[in-house]
Amino acid sequence: MTEFVYEALPGRVLFGWGTVSRTPAEVKALGCSRALVLSTPGHRAEAERLGAMLRPCLAGVFSEAAMHTPFSVTERALAEVTRYGADCTVAIGGGSTIGLGKAIALRAGLPQVVVPTTYAGSEMTPVLGETANGAKTTQRSMKVLPETVIYDVELTLSLPASMSATSGVNAMAHAVEALYAANANPVTSMMAEESLRLLARALPVIVQDPHDAPARTDALQGCWLAGICLATAGMGLHHKLCHVLGGSFGLPHAATHTVVLPHVIAYNAADAPEAMARVTRALGTDDAAAGMFRLVKRLGAGQSLAALGMPEAGIDSAAEAATRQPYPNPAALDCERIRHLLAAAWSGEPPPGP
Ligand code: NAD
Repeated sequence: MTEFVYEALPGRVLFGWGTVSRTPAEVKALGCSRALVLSTPGHRAEAERLGAMLRPCLAGVFSEAAMHTPFSVTERALAEVTRYGADCTVAIGGGSTIGLGKAIALRAGLPQVVVPTTYAGSEMTPVLGETANGAKTTQRSMKVLPETVIYDVELTLSLPASMSATSGVNAMAHAVEALYAANANPVTSMMAEESLRLLARALPVIVQDPHDAPARTDALQGCWLAGICLATAGMGLHHKLCHVLGGSFGLPHAATHTVVLPHVIAYNAADAPEAMARVTRALGTDDAAAGMFRLVKRLGAGQSLAALGMPEAGIDSAAEAATRQPYPNPAALDCERIRHLLAAAWSGEPPPGP
């Protein structure tokens, strides 16, 4: 007998081409009139452009968002919220910028309009990861779930091929883990499989031609679905390992997900046959782990943790850390098996066959 609990999260989503021009109307629809636009330093020009569009509802632009939402940056942004009398935030960028909007929402209660420009999926989740004094903490709170998300395919055209590949595989990781999560359910599984199908088809096209509009459209839809999966079903060994590797060795977020995913699929394959059947079908392959490894290779993305800067001596400590406060996972967490997994991922070997 199948049993499950499915909890849909609230949120308004606009999807299309040029949809960023609808941001002023969406700010007003939230009853707001003083928006603080957020971005990373690299996205300052886009943030300024969006700010100009928002006038007279623009309070200011804050362009200091950084990876892993450092609390020092949030403090400076909160000071700007007060100084400008902002009544909402408009985040334009990837997971780092969106994280800043969430951190502000948590403390100042400001509603959020989010315009994602990568495939990380944070815009759909009530999850916030922050760093303070070198330590990363993650919390789940409905206070941080963005009210309005505006997906504009046109804004993703500038995402370089290499980042599109790793960010896209980061999204695929959300979908894969949702398929075997303890709280998996028919709705998220359907979304996860469709997300994998869209991304597996679109990403190889995008790395050849980052301006391919149909592939960009599919990829952004796939990432939206993956974000819903991450938000409504859980995370397992893969996300745990990536959090450990990111936190312990400062490895880049999306690139780490890309290296680790095929190996975790292999680790879990025997214990999650239905999930693997869906991954296999979505990838159009005969084996989920091998198929994912081949896809990553085809995308030209890095396949070794060593190349990302992980020291070989860190394998043991990372394996131990992954078994402490573990996330639910279909296969039992065995330190020795995880050590082998990490050793293969470190050197860039393919995952073991079934
Ligand atoms: P990012 O937001 O750090 O962006 C990486 C770089 O790409 C930045 O310099 C940015 O300016 C640039 N960039 C973004 N969009 C671009 C575009 N369209 N064209 C050109 N350049 C562009 O990277 P990310 O992978 O999106 O986010 C990673 C962060 O998000 C991590 O801190 C991770 O922990 C967090 N995250 C959180 C959740 C969640 O649910 N809380 C989910 C996924 C990721």
